[in-house]
Amino acid sequence: MGNFFKDNNLVEIKDERFIVDLMYARPENVTMHPVYEEVGFGKKAYVHRDVAKCLVGVSKKLKDLKLKMRICDAYRPPVAHRRILDLLPIEGLFAPTAERSAHCHAVAIDCCLTDERGNNLCFPTKVDAYDKNLARKLAFGQTDDFYKHFAKAAADFYDEKYQREIYNRELLKSIMFNAGFEGIRSEWWHFQLPEGISKYPVFEWSEHPNKKKGV
Ligand SMILES: [Zn+2]
Repeated sequence: MGNFFKDNNLVEIKDERFIVDLMYARPENVTMHPVYEEVGFGKKAYVHRDVAKCLVGVSKKLKDLKLKMRICDAYRPPVAHRRILDLLPIEGLFAPTAERSAHCHAVAIDCCLTDERGNNLCFPTKVDAYDKNLARKLAFGQTDDFYKHFAKAAADFYDEKYQREIYNRELLKSIMFNAGFEGIRSEWWHFQLPEGISKYPVFEWSEHPNKKKGV
């Protein structure tokens, strides 16, 4: 990658086992806005180089299993995080500040497993638990249905009707945990470096050549 960040510890994810498909770079996400495009960030996935080291182990394991991984979010510029909070000012949905989001520290990724053709394996919810109707309701401040659905996003959600989905979720967790990541209870797709928020700074994003003026 080029010299786009004040801190050059950020590297772009580029590996044949990883499919970069950032959900906030397109409108099909819980905010219904292509936030990363709107702030001029674009579609590339960056992580701290310590995360990239862990991903080397993930890539090897994926190859053994004949699987790939869809990267749905990685480093999130603080300006994009603030835009998300403006679009969905609902308490508890996103970290309340960029400082509290591991994504803004470049130490978190949101991901799921796919087959070798890039088709997602089945999981209890989509990454982001996105659903158009629920997102629309959220935009109007109606949260009940969303939170009901969101119960399935818990990393320890269990229901015998979802055996295959839960098997895949547990497989994903074991791959990530073995590579040095930890999960969070509320989102099965989110993984981060242990103590990442306290050990690594928030990365500002101000030197990207695609940055639009005035953002
Ligand atoms: Zn996340």
